[in-house]
Amino acid sequence: MEFEECQCTPAEILIFSCSGASNVGQISNQAAVKLTRDNVGKFFCLAGLGGHVPAMVESAKVGRRFVVIDGCPIACGKETIVHLGYPLTDYVVVSELGIKKRHNFDLDDSDIEKVCAAVKEKLGRPLPVTGKLD
Ligand code: SF4
Repeated sequence: MEFEECQCTPAEILIFSCSGASNVGQISNQAAVKLTRDNVGKFFCLAGLGGHVPAMVESAKVGRRFVVIDGCPIACGKETIVHLGYPLTDYVVVSELGIKKRHNFDLDDSDIEKVCAAVKEKLGRPLPVTGKLD
């Protein structure tokens, strides 16, 4: 497989979080917020795409990297993006970073930082010329 260095601007890096109803879902949400505030990429509405809202579908066309942060392996965000036919280029699962899923909203800043670091590590890798990763 051929790879190329990523020349994407932050506006072309779309970040989706599952934003699920658990600690890990909300950590995914807060990580997407922080990555956007830090100008790494742009937090984008997963629900808008999942609902096939025309304006959202249109504005997602600027995306060159599609970053999904899921809370757990149920993978709701990933399934949505793949179902819609967008290239999933960068994928992080919060619960696979040693953060246990709980049905509460007690979030730890260090966990949010850990997820942000994992996303940045993914984005530091060259992109396959096909624009798709596993
Ligand atoms: S991926 Fe897990 S945490 Fe996120 S919405 Fe789905 S079930 Fe909830």
